[in-house]
Amino acid sequence: MFGYNGSANASVGVLKLLLDLKSIIEIPGEEIGFDCYLDVAELDFSQIVRFITPPRAVGTVKNSAGALTLSAKLGVEMACLCDRCGSEFEYFKKQDVSVALAESPEDDENPDIFLVEGDWVDVGEILRTCFVLEFEPKFLCSEDCAGLCETCGKNLNDDPCNCDKNDPRLASLRQLLDELD
Ligand SMILES: [Zn+2]
Ligand SMILES: [Zn+2]
Repeated sequence: MFGYNGSANASVGVLKLLLDLKSIIEIPGEEIGFDCYLDVAELDFSQIVRFITPPRAVGTVKNSAGALTLSAKLGVEMACLCDRCGSEFEYFKKQDVSVALAESPEDDENPDIFLVEGDWVDVGEILRTCFVLEFEPKFLCSEDCAGLCETCGKNLNDDPCNCDKNDPRLASLRQLLDELD
């Protein structure tokens, strides 16, 4: 079992991070820091070609008047596929995470509350869940990506194609009209 005690020392490179909250759980005003990488094996999305840098999260768990909050900044550099034109592009994603932790499920309906088990919280699991829940519904190489021509399949970000003039469907229609004349 990975993990470390409640010192301010950050631990980098831990894939599954269990954070021991013993030192802060009963002490309002206290906080504990973490610095970790998420396990990319559990982040399997068809739009992600590869992770250029592993997703790294730097944050704290803070006890504010008895309420525990996990806050983190998540950053990752990925090679992604554009949903519109299919080309590969590099994407630097930043995500702010802020979730409440609770020792018992007071409110089963609230999906934003994560449970503390004993004095431990699985930071890796929480961050992975937040990453997945806030995953982009659409990846675009640029906001004004022109996409592919529906007729010839050319990537219109490079150059416009000539399909308007030489649309084969229009050509066959013209031919048909000619034959009817
Ligand atoms: Zn695109
Ligand atoms: Zn075309």
